[in-house]
Amino acid sequence: MNTSPNILLIYTGGTIGMIKDFETGALIAFDFDELLLNIPELKQLDCNIDTVSFSTPIDSSDMNVDRWKELGDVINENYENYDGFVVLHGSDTMSYTASAISFMFENLTKPIIFTGSQLPIGDLRTDAKENLITAVQISALQKKGKPVITEVGLYFEYKLLRANRTTKINAEHFEAFQSMNYPALVESGVHLKVNTTFLRTVNRRKKMVYHTHFDNDILILKMFPGINERILEDIFSSETIKGIIIETYGAGNTTTKKWFIHLISETIKRGVPIVNVTQCAGGSVEMGKYDTSVALKKAGVISGKDITTEAAVAKLMYLLGEKLPLKVLKTIYETSLRGEMSEN
Ligand code: ASP
Repeated sequence: MNTSPNILLIYTGGTIGMIKDFETGALIAFDFDELLLNIPELKQLDCNIDTVSFSTPIDSSDMNVDRWKELGDVINENYENYDGFVVLHGSDTMSYTASAISFMFENLTKPIIFTGSQLPIGDLRTDAKENLITAVQISALQKKGKPVITEVGLYFEYKLLRANRTTKINAEHFEAFQSMNYPALVESGVHLKVNTTFLRTVNRRKKMVYHTHFDNDILILKMFPGINERILEDIFSSETIKGIIIETYGAGNTTTKKWFIHLISETIKRGVPIVNVTQCAGGSVEMGKYDTSVALKKAGVISGKDITTEAAVAKLMYLLGEKLPLKVLKTIYETSLRGEMSEN
């Protein structure tokens, strides 16, 4: 009997799936049914790989809530039949999709590993093969017959990171992602080094719950010196907006101008949650640390703590989709649900 792990490889689109037509030199979409023929190295891995592709693979700039659900559905429908999932995705919005998937799957007991590449799989200097092969290898890691990784990860350039902690930081380097506020889960060198203490632990008795209602009636507002009162008044008064993320300075600071604080507190009073996330790549929001953020705290602004903007977007859409009263949403938002923020 073949007891090797079963892995489902899902292709959504992006650069990784391109191959060079050697006659014309043009990049063309790669036929994923032929994956094992084109990357024979995958056969050497001790796992069984099945592949499935989006009917129309897309550049990840076109990802949206419906596509997240399409991807979630593929995983959910195959959840019992596979030991792990590898998702091939364009790098541009990979952190957003992977964060969303992390909220979709509560009590995950299997790995869902996202990867992609900066150069197409058919390019001579490609980073795609290493990313793909190691992502599959990590998804197949088992201990006592159970998956080692039980969360959504993002593998790129020798590191597995917690997906909802990542941000794309480079459009040129092979090392395209970083996780400033959480250490790597696995490092790939001569050996695969699993940093066990940083992995999410699971309670296998709890049933996996699949959540699909994401509400995208939200907005991100980046603070900048000189921000315009009338423009903000226009935007904040929109009846369509159900949640706002403000990217603030440093440890969660904004202008202290009266009109701004008034706008924030009136919007919250109308029932629209406002989340405070820092513009800095690393560190955390600490409302009340400086005088400038005391008023925000008083107004009931939600602290995003050290969450990334990508995860903040996914979490806000997820919790709005759950249709919670504002107070409950605030409490849950400030709690780490999938390891996306530090507890304190
Ligand atoms: N624009 C591409 C995408 O995100 C880039 C990539 O695949 O890395 O789909």
